[in-house]
Amino acid sequence: MSSSHANWRLVGAVVFDLDDTLYPERQFARGGLAHVGRLLEERFGALRAREELLAALERGQRKGAIDRLLESRGLPPEIAVELVRAYREHEPSLELHVGAREALVELRSRGPLAILTDGPLESQRSKIRALGLRAMVDAIVINDEWGPEHWKPARSGFLRVVAALDAKMDNRRGVFCYVGDNPVKDFLGARESGWLTVELRHSDRLDPRPDAPTPEHEAHAVVESFEQLLGLLQPPG
Ligand SMILES: [Mg+2]
Repeated sequence: MSSSHANWRLVGAVVFDLDDTLYPERQFARGGLAHVGRLLEERFGALRAREELLAALERGQRKGAIDRLLESRGLPPEIAVELVRAYREHEPSLELHVGAREALVELRSRGPLAILTDGPLESQRSKIRALGLRAMVDAIVINDEWGPEHWKPARSGFLRVVAALDAKMDNRRGVFCYVGDNPVKDFLGARESGWLTVELRHSDRLDPRPDAPTPEHEAHAVVESFEQLLGLLQPPG
């Protein structure tokens, strides 16, 4: 765990990213590619398409895997649009990261909680449903509801969360804290909004962790588990 000299005792509300922060996004990718593979087998006669797509995922070659399969099987590239939609709209089966549920319960006993996520609206809604998160937090903001220009690092989503939690904050003074996994987009808008930021660095992320483009894109602290996160965000003494 590493942390700058931020005063973590000032944190009044904690806001989480979704993919690869609260649950392993690899689970969604696996289910989506299996669904697409079955469609290819049943509707387009592409034998063992499911197996091939899942193998590409395991090799770290998820991006472009559908296009490559269509090409190698001589299938029309236009059907990729439909297949990508099927990937996004499949009904996922997901589980929270180890310790996430306990951390959400503990943090909610201290103050309001929210989720702020990018990603296609329908995918994000079905992930939240599959994980049962609606009842575990006080607000959920899916930036895509307002269009792709509102995706992080845009500040608009962070401002929407502040507005959504306003009533829950009562007279509580407190700084907002954003917990995410991606230094390219998770922390800049939060920092510019005066929030504290924590990078939760899980080892099994879907894509390799990108480097922060500038120091302003870095989080104030890095933790490697929900247990470490709870330790960082000590309750006010
Ligand atoms: Mg993420």
